[in-house]
Amino acid sequence: MPDFDVLVLGGGPAGVNAALAASAAGLKVALFDENTAAGGQVYRAPVSAAVPLTADQQAEQPGDTLRRELAQSAVITYFNHVVWAVTADYRVDAAGPAGPMHCTGRALIVATGTTERIVPFDGWTIPGVIGLAAATILLKSQGILPGRSTLVAGCGPLLAAVAAKTIEGGGKVQAIADMAGLGDWGRTLPAMMSRPDLMREGFHWWHEISRAGAPILSRHTIVKVEQAHDGLRATLAPCDAAGRPVSGKRRSVVADCIAVGHGLTPSTEITRLLRAKHRYSRQAGGWIAVADMDGRTSRPRLYVAGDGAGIAGAAAASHHGTIAGLACAIDLGATDVDQLRSHVPAARQAHAKAARFGRSMAQLMALRPGHIDSIGPQTIVCRCEDVTRAEIDAACDAGAHDVNQLKAWTRCGMGPCQGRTCEDVTAELLAARAHGGSRERAGCFSARTPLRPVTVEALTGDFSYDDIPIPKAAPL
Ligand SMILES: Cc1cc2nc3c(=O)[nH]c(=O)nc-3n(C[C@H](O)[C@H](O)[C@H](O)COP(=O)(O)OP(=O)(O)OC[C@H]3O[C@@H](n4cnc5c(N)ncnc54)[C@H](O)[C@@H]3O)c2cc1C
Repeated sequence: MPDFDVLVLGGGPAGVNAALAASAAGLKVALFDENTAAGGQVYRAPVSAAVPLTADQQAEQPGDTLRRELAQSAVITYFNHVVWAVTADYRVDAAGPAGPMHCTGRALIVATGTTERIVPFDGWTIPGVIGLAAATILLKSQGILPGRSTLVAGCGPLLAAVAAKTIEGGGKVQAIADMAGLGDWGRTLPAMMSRPDLMREGFHWWHEISRAGAPILSRHTIVKVEQAHDGLRATLAPCDAAGRPVSGKRRSVVADCIAVGHGLTPSTEITRLLRAKHRYSRQAGGWIAVADMDGRTSRPRLYVAGDGAGIAGAAAASHHGTIAGLACAIDLGATDVDQLRSHVPAARQAHAKAARFGRSMAQLMALRPGHIDSIGPQTIVCRCEDVTRAEIDAACDAGAHDVNQLKAWTRCGMGPCQGRTCEDVTAELLAARAHGGSRERAGCFSARTPLRPVTVEALTGDFSYDDIPIPKAAPL
């Protein structure tokens, strides 16, 4: 008999809303997240000791509502628990503060969000160069500026978010280098108009940035970062729509932090581990589980929700979570299925509206082929194992037909991050060199346990050597 009806993996807006919907339908639900509280990446709870950077961080945040609703529900929560294994019969193994634990569920909802993508350039592994999304963690959760002076670079809405929050917190933004051009932003306007609240927030950020006099360089990309005596020196170059640096004035910007990000990719390790069907979608951010509009995957009683099912933003993730929670409750035969079904159309409608906005933002962050092509031969692509582009190209030329073969030959993706950081770029390089650009043919890394780095101590917990059964000696 499983311990729970539903296990929800991920405590962001998608996971929490999925858990709330399933629990409200009378199911016994457990939710796991590695963080100390619910909120996920977007509504990340500040750590208690953190000093708020701005007045609005002291005000009620959307994440507070999410956390309060969860606390008032019957959902059993396992925060501070890293899920490191999931088996086909929906047993979840996690490492938590009290040691290892596991439990089983009749159904599983995977709402594990995204991983930040950084397209490598020379110097991207130097300390002080951090992810744009990682900078949001410092700003929101720790109340810490990424640097006294920061260069913000890459693409997508996090550029403005990080720059504005840095300025609000008293930091200096040296420049913003945006790979998108004004025309790219202009094309998002119709979708933006569907969410006037978020559009207002965006305009407020850009207003703060221009008031602070931070230069905004449209269609510019970082080509190199070097350690200089006065900080980190970044070389910026104009780029074309495909992200390829082009001739034109190169600029040098010195800052003590460089926050750079090139989009987000859905986290699909768990659905891959469970051998659900997946497909590649550049627009959705990468590989995603094949699912119906309610998050049902190709495996019975396995659901996906939120950005992990395809990048569509935080607002869409909330509604998608509710939809997946309802679908799961309906499929498990919760009481009053007709009433549950009656909630689905409104949730689907709200999701479609929110996703329209989120997907237009995701388009700004989509991988640009010319950007990948411009990675230099000696640039490190896999930072865990120090594998360069030249080594990847050599493996492709030697006949590596998919990313798993390439991994075996080069160790690319074998480090502690398990390829989360380098997989997208590696597969894109392989696809371009060996498969005419087909990411389907380049494949994706096979997911393996442990899904996240965990210490042996976290897996074994406390034990006495006397309790270890010693097998009798085998007869000679
Ligand atoms: C670092 C980062 C920062 C971001 N900051 C912003 C932002 O400031 N504003 C914005 O609009 N969007 C931001 N995004 C995009 C944002 O993630 C989404 O739009 C939104 O949070 C999606 O909600 P979700 O519920 O689908 O996933 P998430 O909010 O990402 O929630 C997924 C949760 O699952 C947890 N999880 C994943 N795997 C495991 C595991 N194996 N064990 C335990 N827990 C696990 C994660 O820690 C996370 O808490 C950020 C993305 C990233 C990667």
